[in-house]
Amino acid sequence: MTEPLAPGSTLGILGGGQLGRMLAMAAARLGYRCHIFEPGSAPAADVAHAWTQAAYDDLDALRGFAESCDLITYEFENIPAPALDVLSETTPLFPDRRALEVSQDRLTEKTFLAGLGLATAPFAPIDTPADLPTALAATATPAILKTRRFGYDGKGQARVMTPEDGAAALASLEGAPAIAEGFVRFSREISVIAARGRDGTVSAYDPGENVHEDGILSTTTVPAALPLTLRTDAVLIASRILTALDYVGVMGVELFVTPDGLVVNEFAPRVHNSGHWTQVGCAVDQFEQHIRAIAGWPLGNGARHANVVMENLIGEDVARVASLAAEPGVQVHLYGKAETRPGRKMGHVNRVTGPA
Ligand code: AMP
Repeated sequence: MTEPLAPGSTLGILGGGQLGRMLAMAAARLGYRCHIFEPGSAPAADVAHAWTQAAYDDLDALRGFAESCDLITYEFENIPAPALDVLSETTPLFPDRRALEVSQDRLTEKTFLAGLGLATAPFAPIDTPADLPTALAATATPAILKTRRFGYDGKGQARVMTPEDGAAALASLEGAPAIAEGFVRFSREISVIAARGRDGTVSAYDPGENVHEDGILSTTTVPAALPLTLRTDAVLIASRILTALDYVGVMGVELFVTPDGLVVNEFAPRVHNSGHWTQVGCAVDQFEQHIRAIAGWPLGNGARHANVVMENLIGEDVARVASLAAEPGVQVHLYGKAETRPGRKMGHVNRVTGPA
């Protein structure tokens, strides 16, 4: 496809959470309709044209969904391979399945990143408990054990301070295939949100500085307190990853800042929580940028016109929304989730702290 997707076309979005919701709103602004595929509750469906509520192993439902869409994208990366097979029978998927397959598995992902010559934490596979001593010898301690698949917001992880802690840490992962990662002594965590268009053009946003609480992103601040050389390095790293994957869409790349330079932690083949600041900081935000990329539009410029702090509203934080909304320069986003639960992302605010 070389022409941009025609107005009125239907974009399928796998996953109906807040990222899908914000993608659907951006798509609507560009003249498209969205069809959400989501088995559970779907904040995205509230702002979309259609919703298929079915499981990812319901191949008939997937087939019907795919046939109703001109293009399919996703807001989360754990889509099973058989589902991808069915979708691809009729409808193009962006970003394509290689990006998903590489990022779904931490071992494949780290091996891919190291293969590009990028710095990562030292890592080693743990398929069975017998692999533990060799793996910890390779990474040294302290280390972090992580399940290879299905980890998010710090879940599926256990710290190992000394080799003697290893067996208990591994047991907490309940037999899932894992990797050991050497502990990176970082001063800051940053992320780059970058996009690659169907024509290979790359556009990146300024790196943001991330603070996590209990493994969940709490705030992202732009500009990150980094020298220009490191900001440039971060963007170049993201571009290498996008180009090596022949990627189409928006990606979030998480990096550690260390005295020896930047170390790549992981990347997500989708719009990213740490890119929400672009909604108030840039003319084209990450959601519109993703829709532009996959629909074959020219990419928006990543230039930033404001300094911004994005704050996630997690669980009961959402009760502060009235006072936050009364602050000048604060943009409020609520995800329309009926039930407030601890650790649940209920919304976020973007606070403009000054001109860029
Ligand atoms: P992840 O799920 O890989 O993004 O990890 C969640 C958080 O754990 C990261 O944001 C870091 O704060 C921390 N973390 C993950 N891997 C490492 C590592 N190898 N060394 C130090 N901290 C880490």
